[in-house]
Amino acid sequence: MIEQIDHIGIAVHSIEESATLYRDILGLQPAGTEIIEDQGVKVAFFEIGEAMIELLEPVDPEGPVARFLEKNGEGIHHLALRCDDIDQERDNVESKGIRLLSDEPLDGAHGKLISFMHPKDTGKVLLELTQRRSGA
Ligand code: ZN
Repeated sequence: MIEQIDHIGIAVHSIEESATLYRDILGLQPAGTEIIEDQGVKVAFFEIGEAMIELLEPVDPEGPVARFLEKNGEGIHHLALRCDDIDQERDNVESKGIRLLSDEPLDGAHGKLISFMHPKDTGKVLLELTQRRSGA
């Protein structure tokens, strides 16, 4: 079951520069920074109630976020939907013809499990399924 919006991912050239807006001007609480090597990206989270904003800064110039920035500039990159059972939700969308970008759930930031849906199957919006592990 999809429970709520987990976070909105925003691609930026520099987390440090963008943090001026989200942290200093808007006053959002930082909730951790980490590097996700697999995806060639450094991420920083800022809390908004139960949801978060995730800033994505490329660390690999060949990675997907670097390519997104080259093509589109800074902006909304993906929308993450929190579900209680990612395997069940993967089966659900796949059974209805939506492709997934990985054969298995991947390790995301904060120890979460994540899977991206194919943007060509979701009207060009990149949708991420995310499941928090117990205790995470
Ligand atoms: Zn995300």
